[in-house]
Amino acid sequence: MELKFHFFPAALPDETLHSVLSRYARLCGGHSRKAAFTGNRAAVSFTQNVAFPCRLDDLAELLPPGTDLSVSKIITRHTVLPYYAPFLTDEQMQHARTSMAGDGKWLMLKLGINASRIEGASRVRFCPACLNEDVVRVGAAYWHRVHQLPGVLVCPHHGDSLRTVDPSWYSRNSWQLHLPDDAEVQAHSHQVTVGLEAFPTLHQIALRSMQLLTLDLDPLSPIALRACLMRRAAESGLTRGKSQRLDLCRLAAHMDGVFNALPAAWEYSILGDSPSDLPATWVTKLLRRPRHTHHPLKYIVLATALGVDLALLQCSDKPSTQAVKCGFRSIVTGRFG
Ligand SMILES: [Zn+2]
Repeated sequence: MELKFHFFPAALPDETLHSVLSRYARLCGGHSRKAAFTGNRAAVSFTQNVAFPCRLDDLAELLPPGTDLSVSKIITRHTVLPYYAPFLTDEQMQHARTSMAGDGKWLMLKLGINASRIEGASRVRFCPACLNEDVVRVGAAYWHRVHQLPGVLVCPHHGDSLRTVDPSWYSRNSWQLHLPDDAEVQAHSHQVTVGLEAFPTLHQIALRSMQLLTLDLDPLSPIALRACLMRRAAESGLTRGKSQRLDLCRLAAHMDGVFNALPAAWEYSILGDSPSDLPATWVTKLLRRPRHTHHPLKYIVLATALGVDLALLQCSDKPSTQAVKCGFRSIVTGRFG
């Protein structure tokens, strides 16, 4: 018999889709995908704990009447696509939405995320303080989107370091639907260890990452984005002369200062890797070539290093947009020592 949900838990704030479905499976009596979603071939796609789950049209069909979850709502509120959106094109966004509703074909490739080593270094994480608060507040522990974002090692709400689930255990059990308070998850996770000096920067990166998720920005103009970053680089004395060419030596020293305060592990070991006396290639690329193919974490780290608030940079290339809307401003939100 074809599967149809007779009930479905209400999705919680910042909850991943995988988490809502894991809570559904628990209410059905366990964490087995097979038991909870018998008879539905698409379930293997929409239940996966990935950045871009697909077959969402199939999932929406299964939901009981009155469930407050459309495909669009699922994508915007319960996947991490809004985090990527400012750095994609309108066309890429349209493709992503269509692809996630459907079979997900070519999605990662089109978004340029397939080749990203940053995604490979990212882990499944949760915040013990959030977990306890969620149990008290909403009666359930759940996976938060923001904790799963690359480079988010501390909780934006609590400022504490997150717990990371052992990746080899997780991949061996990826067909199961676990929640962060499961005994097995607790037994196979450990607190991320970072030096005290890293907390202020990591907390800023976590807050900026969360901001991108919650603001649900449209794609940003890459030209305006680059101009804003360059302007702050010039204000910080990282350019030379009237033509404002990058001073690579000073830029390298500035970025070294940033990375010295960050852990030399996980995503940051990849981003911090640079030739001696020169900035990492991705830093100069972001400042020189306005293209849409860079990972959001690179923009977030560079914006944090230069004190640019990406959230205030909402800009549209559309001719109908009023000039005033297109203006961007940057604010200094904190500097590195
Ligand atoms: Zn927390």
